[in-house]
Amino acid sequence: MNNSPEKFLYERHINNNYDFNMWFAFPGPESFALSSLGYLWLFRAIDMMSDVNVERIYSDTKTTKIMRDKIDLIGFSFTFDMDFLHIFSILKKNKFPLKTIDRTDNDPLIFAGGPVVTSNPEPYKNIFDFMVIGDGEDVNLEVVRLCVENKDLTKQEKLKLLAKIKGIYVPNLTPTVQKITKKLTECIYTPIISENAFFKNTFILEVERGCSNRCGFCLASYMNMPIRFVDYNKIIETIDFGLQYTNKIALLGAQITAHPDFDKICKYVDNKIKSGEKIEMGISSLRVDSFKPEIVQTLVDAGQRNLTLAIEAGSERLRRVINKHLTEDQIFKAIDVAISCGLRGIKFYGMIGLPTETQEDIEEIVNLSKRIKNKYKGFEISFGFSTFVPKANTPFQWFGREAEKELEKKSNYLRKELHKLGIQTVISSAKWDYWQALLSRGDEKITDLLIEVYKLGGNLGAFKKAAKNLKIDTDSYVLQNYPYDKVLAWDFIETMPGKEFLIKECERLINQ
Ligand code: SF4
Repeated sequence: MNNSPEKFLYERHINNNYDFNMWFAFPGPESFALSSLGYLWLFRAIDMMSDVNVERIYSDTKTTKIMRDKIDLIGFSFTFDMDFLHIFSILKKNKFPLKTIDRTDNDPLIFAGGPVVTSNPEPYKNIFDFMVIGDGEDVNLEVVRLCVENKDLTKQEKLKLLAKIKGIYVPNLTPTVQKITKKLTECIYTPIISENAFFKNTFILEVERGCSNRCGFCLASYMNMPIRFVDYNKIIETIDFGLQYTNKIALLGAQITAHPDFDKICKYVDNKIKSGEKIEMGISSLRVDSFKPEIVQTLVDAGQRNLTLAIEAGSERLRRVINKHLTEDQIFKAIDVAISCGLRGIKFYGMIGLPTETQEDIEEIVNLSKRIKNKYKGFEISFGFSTFVPKANTPFQWFGREAEKELEKKSNYLRKELHKLGIQTVISSAKWDYWQALLSRGDEKITDLLIEVYKLGGNLGAFKKAAKNLKIDTDSYVLQNYPYDKVLAWDFIETMPGKEFLIKECERLINQ
C-alpha cells in the first residue's frame, strides 16, 4: 500500500543509473512549495526527462537524497523578494559559497527564475550563474537539456552556450535580454497533490495569465502582458482530470473573471455540484466590477464563505490615478450580489502611500466604510492594507516611497478609525515594505548588503545594521523619485510595452 502523502498525477521515470543530478529548490518551507503551481509544474517537466535525476529541496529539507557532491545543476524558483534569505540559507547549509566568484569549476551551475529576477535581476547578478527572464515553462527544459548534453564542458563554456538562449541572462555575457512571453497552449496544474501542502489536497489550475487592468503599480499585470487565456475546453478537461484525485480545486489567475468563458466554467462546476458531486472550489480574488451573481453563487455553492475584493484606494480620484476605474456604486452593487448569494462578509484589500495620495484619500476609506456599515447592517467587512512599493518595469517605478513616519501616521489613523467602526484591519509593516522597495529597485551594489543582512540574522535590525556597516544610502533607492531619464538597473531587459510607454502611462495617470 502507498502511504505517501503525495499523489503524483503523472508517470515518473525512475531510473537507477542517472548521469545527471539536479536539485530544484524552493526558497521556503515544503508546505508552501507543494502549493506553488509554477514550482511544481516546472519540477514535473524536469522529472519527466528520462536522463535527469531531479530532487525537490526546500528551506526545511533536513537531508537530501542526492549527495551534494553529485549535483550538476541547482535551480531556484524565486517568487518573493525576501526569499533571498532562504536561498542563502539553502546554499550555506549545503556548503556552497554565496557569490559566483567564490565558487569553483567543481561547483554546479546555480540559476534562478521567477517574478523577482524577471522584474529586476541586478541585485542577484553576483549570486546566480544565470537567470531565466520571463515565462519559464519551455526555456527551463531547454536549459536543463543543454546542461545535460554539455555536462563535460567547463562552466564558462556552458555559460557561453546558455547566453545564446532567448530569455537567459548570463551576467557579463548578455548585454540585453528579451523577456519570454509564452502562449498559453495548455492548462498548467499542480501535478502533485499532497496532504502536506499549505492548501491541503488542492488541485490548482491556471485559467489565465496577467491582468488587462494595468494598475500603475502592478507587477502582476505589467510582467505578464498581454493577458493570455487558456482555451475553455482545455480548462474543463483539466478540471475533470483533477477531480479524479481530489474534490478541492482552485482556479488561478490575476484577473480570472476576464476569461471570455468564465461564466461557462462556473456553470460547468455548478452543474456538477447540483448533480450531487461534492466539489470545493476557490479563486484567488474577484474584481468588484465583475462581481456577477452566477459567479458568486457558484463560489458559495462550492464552499466559499468570504471573498476578497481589491479596491486599492478609498477615493474615486485616487483609484483613477492608479488606473482602477471603480465607482462606489459598483462597490455597493457587489455587496448586494454578495448578500443575495449568502455571503456573510467581504474582505477589502487596499494600499496606502500611493503616488499623489493625500490625507483626504485616506479619510475617504473611513467614510466609505461608514457608508457601507450604515447601509448593510450585520454584514462583516474587514480590511487588509499594504504600503506602496515601487516595482521595476511598471509606470510607478519612478516614484519613491513616502517617508516611514507619514506611512505610520496613516496606518495608525486607519487602525483607530476603522476599529471604532468594528472593522478588523491588518496593515503590512511599513518597515519591511521599505526593504522590499530596496530589493525591487536595487542594483548589483546591494548584493553585499543582502549577504550581510543574511549573516546578521535577516530581521529588520539586520537590514539597518548591514546598510550602516556597508555605508549604503538605502534611501536613495527607496525614497527618491527618479527622473525619467535616469538609467535604471533593469533597463537592459527588453519587455513589452517598453520604457517609452511606461513614461507616457505614468504621465497620463498622475495628471488626471
Ligand atoms: S486589478 Fe489587480 S491584478 Fe489587475 S492590474 Fe490592478 S492590481 Fe494588478
